[in-house]
Amino acid sequence: MKKYDTIFLDRDGTLNPDSGYINDLNHFKFYPFTLDALKKLSKICNGFCIVTNQSGIGRGLIKQEKLDEIHNYIRSEFKKHQIKLFDIYVCPDHPDHATTNRKPETGMFEDASIEYKIDLKSSLMIGDAGSDIEAGAKLEMDTMLVLTGKGPETLQNLNNVKPSIVVENLQVGAELIAS
Ligand SMILES: [Mg+2]
Repeated sequence: MKKYDTIFLDRDGTLNPDSGYINDLNHFKFYPFTLDALKKLSKICNGFCIVTNQSGIGRGLIKQEKLDEIHNYIRSEFKKHQIKLFDIYVCPDHPDHATTNRKPETGMFEDASIEYKIDLKSSLMIGDAGSDIEAGAKLEMDTMLVLTGKGPETLQNLNNVKPSIVVENLQVGAELIAS
């Protein structure tokens, strides 16, 4: 069984259904399998980082305090289930004037690598979008494409980057690589 330093997780479409610009905790829920899958994955890594593009902030569709509420909830659920979460990195940029933090760029990963002394090349990125896979691949990480959220669409439109592994969802992925 391969072990990873850190497992990086996309949020929407990977951990929770992506209803588009989720701007209230009442509209956020994990997939039924998410916490169980993360618990399994915990066995093969030191901890997790969430890396999420939230252009809804830059577009004025999500209020910062509402996003904070959602992320506090995520942190508390991880804690409750004894799943080690190093941090949640958010890129609020509007795509029209994005910084290098916005996936498929790698700024959030590089910040995490410095702050938590993470060896990115020994880490795994899990996500449902091409930008997730591309960012991970740029950093020579292993990548897992989940076919939830935008996953099926992503699979049809993969250009240069190929994920290391494609799975139906996070749970199937966890069973495959962590048991
Ligand atoms: Mg996503």
